[in-house]
Amino acid sequence: MTDQNLRMLAGRCLCGAVHYVVADEFRYAANCHCTDCRRVTGAAFKPFAGIERTKFTVTGGADHLHIFGEENAHDARCGKCGSFLYSAVRDGAYVHVALGALADEPTIRPGEHIFVGSKAPWFAITDDLPQYWAHVADGPPINR
Ligand SMILES: [Zn+2]
Ligand SMILES: [Zn+2]
Repeated sequence: MTDQNLRMLAGRCLCGAVHYVVADEFRYAANCHCTDCRRVTGAAFKPFAGIERTKFTVTGGADHLHIFGEENAHDARCGKCGSFLYSAVRDGAYVHVALGALADEPTIRPGEHIFVGSKAPWFAITDDLPQYWAHVADGPPINR
């Protein structure tokens, strides 16, 4: 089948205790270099994609989720293995799915680097995507 509207993507944590599905209808995707995302992932940046929360469902192991924060603003990890899975954002209306935990390939690709003003000095961006100092809405790309 080729109907993109029906396509669902699966994802899971490292140990497999938590499984989720999300519609392949992400509204945006980016690589975030802010210090919060660097710390929460332990990585140079966080590749994530945003979608309405109603299009994201934890299908297994919800009782294993470890929620850091409040109902409408939190980071969610597997409580057994610690994998970072997603964040509830924008007053709970959206989730930001950490793309690294997806098992299936999404149609969308991260379209820009954001918060490059906070980028780790030891990491070099080597692609040609637009680079924003902070949020996209805060100003034009700094590499164009
Ligand atoms: Zn796990
Ligand atoms: Zn960030």
